[in-house]
Amino acid sequence: ISDFPDLRKHNNCMASCLTPAIYAKLRDRLTPNNWTLDQCIQTGVDNPGHPFIKTVGCVAGDEESYEVFAELFDPVIKDRHNGYDPRTMTHPTDLDASKITNAMFDDKYVLSSRVRTGRSIRGLSLPPACSRAERREVERVVVTALAGLKGDLAGRYYSLGDMTDKEQQQLIDDHFLFDKPVSPLLTCAFMARDWPDARGIWHNNEKTFLIWVNEEDHTRVISMEKGGNMKRVFERFCNGLKQVEHLIQERGWEFMWNERLGYILTCPSNLGTGLRAGVHVRLPKLSQDPRFSKILDNLRLQKRGTGGVDTAATGDTFDISNNDRLGKSEVELVQMLVDGVNYLIECEKKLEKGQDIKVPSPIAQFRK
Ligand code: ADP
Ligand code: MG
Repeated sequence: ISDFPDLRKHNNCMASCLTPAIYAKLRDRLTPNNWTLDQCIQTGVDNPGHPFIKTVGCVAGDEESYEVFAELFDPVIKDRHNGYDPRTMTHPTDLDASKITNAMFDDKYVLSSRVRTGRSIRGLSLPPACSRAERREVERVVVTALAGLKGDLAGRYYSLGDMTDKEQQQLIDDHFLFDKPVSPLLTCAFMARDWPDARGIWHNNEKTFLIWVNEEDHTRVISMEKGGNMKRVFERFCNGLKQVEHLIQERGWEFMWNERLGYILTCPSNLGTGLRAGVHVRLPKLSQDPRFSKILDNLRLQKRGTGGVDTAATGDTFDISNNDRLGKSEVELVQMLVDGVNYLIECEKKLEKGQDIKVPSPIAQFRK
């Protein structure tokens, strides 16, 4: 077909999975919100790769995209999620933070701990496809619901449009707020349209429980604090998330979810739990060791710069987080991150003492 994109120099999941046959079959289909395959893949066509992580290269415009374009999304999901087959497997949810063990990191190495996920409001198009009215409706639904949070979680909403540039920059610099729409991954997926209309951040007074509105997802729900107490961060995450869901449901709305894909989000990399548990961790010795990348891979961990996904992972402090989201529960993924980070810190301590370290054997992804 004369419209098939040139993907020869590309390194993303979409480019590996999209064949002329699949393209021909799907290119004239529309979701109920009139979203097309070409719109799903534009970001992956315009962004051949990323210096550190293998990107996905396609986004959903609505919940139905994952079904209407399943011939593309299924193999992409399988590729990105380490063999998870969305036609035959089901995704578990477990938000019981009491099950987590060994989740107190040494503050000498771990500067901050964070857990985030995303949630989408069923019935409204996702950020790549939503109209201005839908985007404002997401903001209204979410902000109204969040007013019901009580006690330590009580807080308020700060709309991006009402903030001064200085206030916005301070929130970004302090790692609380999403970046300005500089990411080509985001802009090429049409997610920065009308910026800053209907975008904002809700947070409690302590800035330990935060909700982003209308960035890459309808909502991102975040628990974070300085230091290494991942146990407490995950407890607050589970507790807060359950309350947010309850408050949304009370008003007659629900999250996009199904048992095969788990929670439905804009980027296929975030399906399932949508969970990214991570730490900012100082590893001056280990990060200089040639085995660092292999160790991270085998522990199913991902490395980013401390300014977010679009910043370079240079220097000796990194954002280390779980690489997987789908097919394992929240509890399993947080425990994997915890065990992995403990291993990295052990390696760092050994290298400090001049002792040798070992590359761990790869973690199996799915129970047989
Ligand atoms: P996300 O996957 O949540 O969108 P990004 O990589 O886009 O994360 O980063 C968003 C912001 O969150 C950045 O400012 C980043 O520095 C901050 N952040 C991510 N992980 C941590 C952490 N463990 N501690 C402190 N800030 C963090
Ligand atoms: Mg981000």
